[in-house]
Amino acid sequence: MHEMSIVEALIKQCEKIAKDNDAKKVTAVHLKIGILSGIEPHFLESCFDIFKEHTICNEAKLHIDIQKLVITCNDCKTTNTLEQNHFICPKCQSQNLVVNDGEDMMLMRLEME
Ligand SMILES: [Zn+2]
Repeated sequence: MHEMSIVEALIKQCEKIAKDNDAKKVTAVHLKIGILSGIEPHFLESCFDIFKEHTICNEAKLHIDIQKLVITCNDCKTTNTLEQNHFICPKCQSQNLVVNDGEDMMLMRLEME
């Protein structure tokens, strides 16, 4: 259910951008989905295919990039991409971290005609 409201909001956003750009239709939607966003990409894709009918995204293809977790360590000040979701600095093993990326979904790019 979570994914459905995300897709609804996403299509609204696409409609607005297309309108602002005088586009007739959206041909591709590029999304970045953070690994910690809780969004299931395959489920999001099927929701998109259902919702896009009769919208400006009717012919749009969905491209999804999975964003890994990017953290900055407050202790040694390094920034690292974590291969696994273990909240530990790979350099100094600190858990005093700030998450920079990988937590949410972002609309990166639209292809329009
Ligand atoms: Zn560190």
